[in-house]
Amino acid sequence: MRLAFSFALLTACGALRPLPAPLRTAPLPFAVCDWDSYNAGLVRRAAALAAEAGVTFAESPCGPNVLRVQHWESQNGRGGEYDRAAREIRVDPVRTPGESTRVHVFVHELLHAAGGHHVCSYPGELPDASHPTERCSPVGYGAAVLNPYYDVFDDAPARSENPEAERGFVAIVHPTNLDRLELARARRGP
Ligand SMILES: [Zn+2]
Repeated sequence: MRLAFSFALLTACGALRPLPAPLRTAPLPFAVCDWDSYNAGLVRRAAALAAEAGVTFAESPCGPNVLRVQHWESQNGRGGEYDRAAREIRVDPVRTPGESTRVHVFVHELLHAAGGHHVCSYPGELPDASHPTERCSPVGYGAAVLNPYYDVFDDAPARSENPEAERGFVAIVHPTNLDRLELARARRGP
C-alpha cells in the first residue's frame, strides 16, 4: 500500500450480500515487537477492531514462532506491509501519521495476516502497483479496510503547506461487510 491522496476512501459500498455463517476459528496469535507503549496500545486496539471481520487475535510474547507486529523504517514507499514468509507485519510510523491512519494500517495488515486479499474500491483498480499480476478479491467493490490504498486521515498532522488538500478523509478502522466477506472467502479457500 502507499499514500494516495487523490483517492477518496469514502466510495459507495459494494452491493450488500448476506453474511456467511459466523466463522469459528482459533484465535490467531500475534506479538507486539519493538513498539513503545502508545503504539503497542494502537496495535491492541487494531486487533480488537480486526475481530469485527470474523477472525480473532490473541496476544503472545514476542518470539520467532508468532505473527510479529514490528516497528519499521520503510525503504519502499509503503506505510505497512505483511510478509507472509517471515510472519511479520511491518508498519512505519512516519508514513502512517496520526492515530487513525496508523490504526487503519494495523487493522489492514492484520486482516492480510488472517488471509484477506485486497478488496478494490472500483473495477479495474490495480491492487498492487509493484505486483501487477495481483487481482482484486472477487467479493465486490467499495469501502473496506482491505482497500489497497489508504489516505492520511484527518487527525494526522499536516505535512505540507497545503494541509487542507491532505485532510478530510474519514478513517476506516472498522471492517466493513466487504472485509467480512473476504475473510470468509479466504477461510473457505480457493
Ligand atoms: Zn495491503
